[in-house]
Order: sequence, then C-alpha cells, then structure tokens
Amino acid sequence: MAEQTFIMIKPDGVQRGLVAEVIARFEKKGFTLRGLKLQNVEQAFAEKHYEDLSSKPFFHGLVHYIISGPVVAMVWEGKSVVTTGRTIIGATNPAQSAPGTIRGDYAIDIGRNVIHGSDSVESAQKEIALWFPEGTVQWKSSLHPWINEQ
Ligand code: GDP
Ligand code: MG
Repeated sequence: MAEQTFIMIKPDGVQRGLVAEVIARFEKKGFTLRGLKLQNVEQAFAEKHYEDLSSKPFFHGLVHYIISGPVVAMVWEGKSVVTTGRTIIGATNPAQSAPGTIRGDYAIDIGRNVIHGSDSVESAQKEIALWFPEGTVQWKSSLHPWINEQ
C-alpha cells in the first residue's frame, strides 16, 4: 500500500478560512486525497489523539484548543507523504517555521499553529485508524503516471 499520512486542519485554521489553502498545497504537490471530513472533537477523543503528550504542561490547553471548534480531518497518500507533509506544514513553533510552509506563512503562536500532520509512518497508521474507523476511499488519480515516474 502507498504511504499515507493523517492531516488535520485545527480549529483556528477552519475559523480563519484556511481550509482551501491547506488542501490546495497538498493537492497541487501531487498527493492523493483519500479521506476528508469536517467534525467537532470530543474531549476524550482529543486526549486520545494527543495521548503521547499527556504529561506535558501544555496538554490541557492543547486539548481545549482542539475541541474549541470544528476541525478538518484528512488522509493524504503518496511517496514519502509523511515526511514531505511535515515539510509542507513547517516546524511546530511558527517562530521557527520557514516562510513558504503553512505554519511559516499563516501562524505566529505554537498554541495556534493551524495544522497537524503525523510525525512517522507508524503514528500515521495509528491516527488514520483512530480518525477514520470507517475506512477511506480507494481510488487512483488518472494523473498518477504524470506525477510518479513509476
Ligand atoms: P507537531 O507534531 O509539530 O504538531 O508538534 P507536537 O506533536 O510536539 O505537539 C503537538 C501540538 O502541541 C503542537 O502542534 C502545538 O499545537 C502544541 N504544542 C507543542 N509544544 C507546545 C508548547 O511548548 N507550548 C504550547 N502551548 N503548545 C505546544
Ligand atoms: Mg506531533
């Protein structure tokens, strides 16, 4: 199976009207959209998504942020999409995110950094299973050979 990553536009990204901008960056790069939904997040679900960070001092604020409004949950597929997705997103702290990245272009504060992306293939698999228990859409773009050498 081709590599997949879980991407989430956080509540600030949705509120600020950045949904189309984020999708365009992944779409124009050549990655394939496999799943997409707008949803509110329950507190227990947000705690589960961020369970690895539960001992951090910012955990409570992070959970509060993620449940503060609807998010857009997505699955994107393509060669090295986990690593390249993180590059497109930029560094966690927008003060250190390069211009041209989503966080570098659209965020100032680490606690309002617009977007989430899986940090490894393993966490992508875990996150996709958590967010898309119903599964994703199997399809292949007719542009595939124009984007991928093989
Ligand atoms: P990411 O993978 O780049 O999103 O970063 P992490 O997995 O380390 O952290 C998850 C999210 O927690 C980040 O995207 C930030 O929104 C938030 N976060 C991380 N570190 C801090 C911090 O030091 N302070 C605050 N307020 N939030 C943080
Ligand atoms: Mg992370």
